Amino acid sequence: AAMRETRTKKTKTVCTFCGVGCAFDVWTKGREILKIEPSEEAPVNSISTCIKGKFGWDFVNSDQRLTSPLIRKGDVFVEATWDEAYDLIAEKMGAIKRTYGGDAIGFISSSKMTNEENYLIQKMARQVFETNNVDNCSRYCQSPASDGLQQTGGIGGDTATIEDIAGAGLVILVGCAPAEGHPVLATRIKRAHKLHGQKLISVDLRRHEMADRADLFIRPKQGTDFVWLSAVAKYIVDQGWHDQAFIEQHVNFFDEYMKLLATYTLDYAQEMTGISKDTLIELATSIHEADGTAICWGMGVTQNIAGSHTSAAIANLLLLTGNMGRRNAGAFPLRGHNNVQGAADMGTMPNIFPGYQSVTDDDIRHKFEEAYGVDISAQPGLDNISMLLGVQRGTLKAMYIAGEDMAWVDSNANHTQEMLAKIDFLVVQEIFLTTTAQFADVILPGAPSLEKDGTFTNTERRVQRLYQALEPLGEAKADWMILTELAKRMGHDWGYQHPSEIFAEMASLTPFFSGCDYDVLAGWNSFHWGSPDGSNTPVLYLNGFHFPDKKARFALTDYIPSETYPAEFDLALDNGRLLEQFHEGNLTNKSAGIQHKLPEVFVEVSTELAEERGVKTGTLVRLESPYGAIKLRALVTDRVKGTTLYVPMHSASHEHAINVLTGNSVDVRTHTPAYKQMKVRMHILEVE
Ligand code: SF4
Repeated sequence: AAMRETRTKKTKTVCTFCGVGCAFDVWTKGREILKIEPSEEAPVNSISTCIKGKFGWDFVNSDQRLTSPLIRKGDVFVEATWDEAYDLIAEKMGAIKRTYGGDAIGFISSSKMTNEENYLIQKMARQVFETNNVDNCSRYCQSPASDGLQQTGGIGGDTATIEDIAGAGLVILVGCAPAEGHPVLATRIKRAHKLHGQKLISVDLRRHEMADRADLFIRPKQGTDFVWLSAVAKYIVDQGWHDQAFIEQHVNFFDEYMKLLATYTLDYAQEMTGISKDTLIELATSIHEADGTAICWGMGVTQNIAGSHTSAAIANLLLLTGNMGRRNAGAFPLRGHNNVQGAADMGTMPNIFPGYQSVTDDDIRHKFEEAYGVDISAQPGLDNISMLLGVQRGTLKAMYIAGEDMAWVDSNANHTQEMLAKIDFLVVQEIFLTTTAQFADVILPGAPSLEKDGTFTNTERRVQRLYQALEPLGEAKADWMILTELAKRMGHDWGYQHPSEIFAEMASLTPFFSGCDYDVLAGWNSFHWGSPDGSNTPVLYLNGFHFPDKKARFALTDYIPSETYPAEFDLALDNGRLLEQFHEGNLTNKSAGIQHKLPEVFVEVSTELAEERGVKTGTLVRLESPYGAIKLRALVTDRVKGTTLYVPMHSASHEHAINVLTGNSVDVRTHTPAYKQMKVRMHILEVE
C-alpha cells in the first residue's frame, strides 16, 4: 500500500456536478487529487471544464465524510460495523414489510448515484420489498419537462444533442441560466452566438449572464410562460408560418390544438404576461426566420403549478414549426444534477420500470416479474411528495433515502423535517451527515463518484463510463455494493461482482439500452439511448415519434393561473443557482476554493424597490412566506426588476434556506413543488 501511495495515477471520470456531462482525467497520488485534466477525446466538453468540475473536488477528502456505518442510540449516533447496520435494517424493515406490507416502505434514489445504483434501488424496492414506492429527485426539478415531452413526442429526454443546440439558428432560453447552471454548455452557445451568427433570446425573471449577451431579453410576469408560448404559436399559425407538411405527416391533433390556441391573442398575452405585442411578434418572427430553433428550459419553467403544461407548450411550438426530429433544433430541458436523466431512465419512479416501461402494462410487468421472481403490483407506487403524506397519515412506516437531502431541498422544509422526525424507521445512505441523515435510525456511508465504477447519463441522453480513481474512504463502500449486500441480507443474492453485470441485466430488460454494454462505453466512448431497437440515437424521432402510429401529438393541456396569496405577500420570489455553487451546496460548501469566493447568500432587490423601501446593499432583511421566514442581507441590483426578489438556493444554514419559505403547491401533473412561484413579504431588520 505504501508503494502505491507514492505513485501518481490517471483515471477517466465524468463530472459529478451538472447535467452537461463533462468527462476528464483525474490525476491522483494516494488520496490526493493532483489535478483535473480535460481531454480532446471527451465527447461533450473536449478541453473545457468549469470551476466546479476543475476545482470542486475537495469534498471527497473532507474530514466531514461519513467513514463508518452509524446507528442511532437515543439522541446520538454511534459507530457500528456493517454487519450490525445490515442486521438492524433487515430486522426492522423486514418486520415492517411482514406486518404492514411492502407498501408501508418508500425508497428515494439519488441523481448523484450511478445508473447501476439507481437500477438497484428500484430493484430493491420492487423485488426485495415488493413495492412500487420508489422515486428520485427529478420530482423536485425536471419531472414536468419529461412529462411534457412524453405527452408530445413520447420520450422524456432532450430531443437532440448539445451539438445541435450549438448548431441551431436560434436558441431560446426559458427560465434557465446556463452560464451559472450549465457553464460548458453555455460556452458552446456563446461561441455559436459570437462566431456563427446564432441568434440568442433569453426569457427570464432575472437578467443573468446569458440574458446580458442575448439579442433579445424578455422579462414576463411570474408564472406566465405558457401564455406567451401559446400566443407566439397562434401568431405563427395566423401568419401561415407553421410547417404544414411536417404536421400533416407527423403530428396528430392539429385542429384541437388550434381550438386551444384561440384564446391566446396578442392582446390577451400582452395583458397577462406583460410582454409587449411587438416583442411577441419579434419572437415569432425570429422562429420563422431561423434555420432550426432550439429551446432550452430549466426550473424557471418546471417548478410551477403548470410546469408540465408549459413544458408541453414548448414542445407544441417546436412541433408546429417542424423543429423536432431534425438536427440543429429541438427541445432541451437542461438537467440539473449530473445523473438526473439516468436516475429516471433507470426506473426509480413509482409508475415506470427502467427505460420508461410502464408498470401498468401487463406484458412489461410480467417480464420484470419473471426476471425478479416476485409479483409486482400493477398500481403505480407513491412519489416522494405522497410518501411524506403517507408518513403524516401513519401509513408509511419506513423510508430508505439514498443520497438525497430531502429535509433540505424539499419545498416547505419545516414540514418535511417534521415528517422525517415522525417516521418509524429511516435509513439514509450518504457521504455526509446531511440534514436528512440527522433524522436517520441507520446511516450507511456511501462513496462519491471518484471512488467507484459505473455510468452516468447526461442531459442529452448520453451514457458515459466513469472509472474508479480512489478507494472508498475509511469503511465507506460503493453504493452498488451496499445495496447488493443488503439485498443478500434480505434473502436475495444478486451476486454482482462489478457494475458491468448490473448494467447488462438492466439492458437485457430495457429495449432502449439493448445495444449498449461496457464494451460499447469503454474509455471515452459514449452511447445515446432513444430508439426502441437499442441503437445509438443522438437525435430522437428521425424515424418517427415514439407512439404506435409514429406520429407526435399536440398536447391539449391548458394554462393554469398562479395560486393567489394574501395581499400582504406582495413580492414575487425567484431563486436559482450561482456559478460557483451547486444545489443546496452540500458538495461545493466543502471546497475551500469555492467558499472563499462566495461567503454568504443574499437576496437581490431591484433598484426601484430598494429606493421605495429604503433598502441598501448590506441591509439585513427578513423574508416571510405563509410557510416560514428567513433572514438575509440585501444586494441592490438591476438584475431583478420591480417587485421580484431573487435568492440563490445555496445556503449553508437553515436560517437562510430558501425552502423554509417555499410552500405546498405542486405541478398538477407531476407533483413537482412550485418553488418558482411564490410570494413573500419583506421586513427591514437593520440597515448597514
Ligand atoms: Fe461539471 Fe457541468 Fe462544469 Fe461540465 S459544466 S465541468 S459537467 S459542472
